[in-house]
Amino acid sequence: MELLKDRIIKDGTALSETVLKVDQFLNHQIDPVLMVEIGKEFKTRFEGVKIDKILTLESSGIAPSVMTGLELSVPVVFARKRKSLTLTDGLLTADVYSYTKQETNNIAVAEKFIQPGDNVLIIDDFLANGEAANALIHIVKKAEATVAGVGIVIEKSFQKGGNELREAGYHVESLARIRSLGAGEIKFVDEVKN
Ligand code: 5GP
Repeated sequence: MELLKDRIIKDGTALSETVLKVDQFLNHQIDPVLMVEIGKEFKTRFEGVKIDKILTLESSGIAPSVMTGLELSVPVVFARKRKSLTLTDGLLTADVYSYTKQETNNIAVAEKFIQPGDNVLIIDDFLANGEAANALIHIVKKAEATVAGVGIVIEKSFQKGGNELREAGYHVESLARIRSLGAGEIKFVDEVKN
């Protein structure tokens, strides 16, 4: 998605060779106009796919998910990061290790929001090692629902998550795929000519 790639070049900062900061438009301040375009792009990318619901993870997945939900006219559910691990009644839970924060979060979705047989599109802001996406997939499977696809705003394709999900057979659509990050330099996958 050219608009997104241009914005990453303009406002993104490579904090290291592995971490990209995009707090100007996605992770802290949010650009609603860009989010609307992201919603339209996900709609196009998943054209013809049956989607009953969108599942994301708080907090940065919510903005792109809501705009996609608006385009598709389907509800959006966000998994919550849990503070108390004691009460699990009526909850679908999974663990997510975040290497950017170096901590494990337990995430949960109320069972009532994902029903058996639902076709669920998973959306997240970033895809790196696939921890967050796999935890959301785990929750969908626990609910006896179906993963309709995985929509990612920014995939860091030099990390293993994207390839593993595609090899596992999931329909993954990433709006920007980053090949490498370096000091002052962000390279995208489709810039590479073989
Ligand atoms: P994964 O679970 O695939 O390893 O990493 C994806 C999750 O970690 C996303 O939900 C995102 O919040 C966070 N994340 C991973 N890499 C980055 C990054 O380079 N920049 C930012 N801002 N978040 C990241």
